[in-house]
Amino acid sequence: MTLSTPRTGTVRPDDARPGAGARPLRVTLLAGGVGGARFTRGLRDLLQRRDVPAELTVVVNTGDDMWLDGLRVCPDLDTVMYTLSGVVHEEQGWGRREETTRVSAELHAYGLGWPWFTLGDLDIATHVARTELLRRGLPLSEVTARLASRWEPGARLLPMSDQSVETHVELADGSGTVHFEEWWVRLRAGVPARRFLQVGVEEARPAPGVLEAIASADVVLLPPSNPVVSVGTILGVPGIRDALRATAAPVVGVAPIVGGAPVRGMADACLTTIGVETTPLAVGEHYGSRSRGGLLDGWLVDTADADAVPALARAGIDARALPLLMGEDVGSDGLTATEAIAAAALDLAGLGSRLA
Ligand code: GDP
Ligand code: CA
Repeated sequence: MTLSTPRTGTVRPDDARPGAGARPLRVTLLAGGVGGARFTRGLRDLLQRRDVPAELTVVVNTGDDMWLDGLRVCPDLDTVMYTLSGVVHEEQGWGRREETTRVSAELHAYGLGWPWFTLGDLDIATHVARTELLRRGLPLSEVTARLASRWEPGARLLPMSDQSVETHVELADGSGTVHFEEWWVRLRAGVPARRFLQVGVEEARPAPGVLEAIASADVVLLPPSNPVVSVGTILGVPGIRDALRATAAPVVGVAPIVGGAPVRGMADACLTTIGVETTPLAVGEHYGSRSRGGLLDGWLVDTADADAVPALARAGIDARALPLLMGEDVGSDGLTATEAIAAAALDLAGLGSRLA
């Protein structure tokens, strides 16, 4: 299945022919943390499995970034870096595996940090390295490249912006405004949010390479990341939304909502705040069809939500239903569940022939 209005200009016939001489497939993704990281890993592994030369660029949300104990912490960048590099704590979804927390315990004993927020020791080394490179005057995009070069993640990681854009949450009970991580981790999104603020966004510019990666892509993918505080935050950086609307590449997304609920986390609380129902149909309509001024050409929903496909078509979005729970066990088709989702996203973008 391909998009009803494929933008064939993005894939020249020569490029579509598999084998020697084909230039690498350029894929650009807009990712948050766990959902974005796992999907990107599946896509990378799929392309490697099928011997498709590819250049992956992941534009990562930095709205969750913060200063803690004198260190610059970038939760989503680190989750993507660790996941693509095979060192992530797989069950947790973030942080390093085989991790200890002795440094955090010492800091807490000094009365520093947040008692409800523990950084692992190996993870702290990443933050120390990042902070030192920032202190030397390097922009976050260069710092990110320097940190990632150690790991060979198989994708280029770009922060959405080199400027600080922090998501803050205005609490609906009137008790004040807190950093997103405090709302998410300490309050477990239990106190309703009145609104999300992107502190610093007016002055922010897309990081070097971001707009080019969107403009020159063969396909732009929105992984199943939080539509409000991951993808929504990236789209808030001036210029990025327009770049998505203008690119010649098809834009295909994966619903992070399955059967009326987020697969993990509290995305429902975020969607409620912005007045969007927690359904893949509502999230698809929230992004909107590119043919009508929105962002999406295609949208994958779970088989449990297959009845949303006709309504999405009426909204101008080419949708397809398939199992959307990401998993790492190889199935009878020779792909992991995550790879199969990535394959469906490329297929919906009209690039299925590259996987043959
Ligand atoms: P975060 O920054 O760590 O919260 O990660 P993201 O924003 O990238 O992803 C969070 C979203 O991923 C949540 O809304 C989840 O519902 C979604 N998600 C996590 N696992 C899966 C999965 O297996 N399938 C789908 N479709 N969505 C998932
Ligand atoms: Ca995040």
